[in-house]
Amino acid sequence: MSKAVGAVMTTRVVAGLIEDHRLQGGLNEFPEHIDDTNGLIEIPAESLCDILCDAIASQAPAGSTIDAAGVAIPGYVDQGVVLDAPNLPQLKGAQIAASMGAGLKKRGIETRVSVFNDADAVAAGIAATRGQMDRQVRVWTIGNGIGFGRYPNTGGPWEGGHSVVTLDPREKFCGCGGRGHLEGVMGYRAMRLRFLDMEPEEVFAQARQGNARCREFVELWHCALAAATASFIHLAGPGRFYFTGHNVGFLELPLLRTHLESMVKMSPLQSFSLEILEPDDATALLGAGVSALRALTW
Ligand SMILES: [Zn+2]
Repeated sequence: MSKAVGAVMTTRVVAGLIEDHRLQGGLNEFPEHIDDTNGLIEIPAESLCDILCDAIASQAPAGSTIDAAGVAIPGYVDQGVVLDAPNLPQLKGAQIAASMGAGLKKRGIETRVSVFNDADAVAAGIAATRGQMDRQVRVWTIGNGIGFGRYPNTGGPWEGGHSVVTLDPREKFCGCGGRGHLEGVMGYRAMRLRFLDMEPEEVFAQARQGNARCREFVELWHCALAAATASFIHLAGPGRFYFTGHNVGFLELPLLRTHLESMVKMSPLQSFSLEILEPDDATALLGAGVSALRALTW
């Protein structure tokens, strides 16, 4: 029986034990006392690594054997190194897999650590829970940042959240600094920068009540997501797109579909489907663990 521990980094770190592609027991959250307003953003990379190691160790008591540990991180990750992480900038360049391997060893655990982009981990988690390990899974994660995850992972950055969706030079709210990016429209931080006088939740609520400025923005928000999704349909074909993440509640599927239908007109590409999944940390965590086990065979 294969055993792995999965961990996901969001506004905190959540870890769980996975046996034979299923989550066993409860999830542990680290650190236990955290300022919710800032999350992990002010914690240095080294301490974040320690938190991850503690989270993994909490699910693998010393003396027990785990085959692999998988960690999901919001950022561009390659070969165990965080190449960039606009929403957790302190992680840029961090050699997470190597540091964690050493940190776990100190805690009496010898196992291979694999690191994944958080949206890719969600896609792997969806594939595992829905028995779709043989199919292409694509998912948008709508949170502080905007992630695009794919399973199976075939390499490459696939930073879908930084797709260019507008040529308007005033669109410059993306955390990466790039102009016209999807995340610069849809990201939580970006929305706060755009509406300095209103929280994003208020913007969507006011839009429902007919406020013209807010309604216009909610249209732009859905149009931008439709534009990026249409690009992926034109590049990689139709199929199912999943939508999840802490802010997926902002998404109105019929509105997205209307915009998407106006953008995808070639009939062989129109057989796409859209599905919202309630956000939960367990999916990403399961995906990280399952992918870490698969990585042992590479
Ligand atoms: Zn960007």
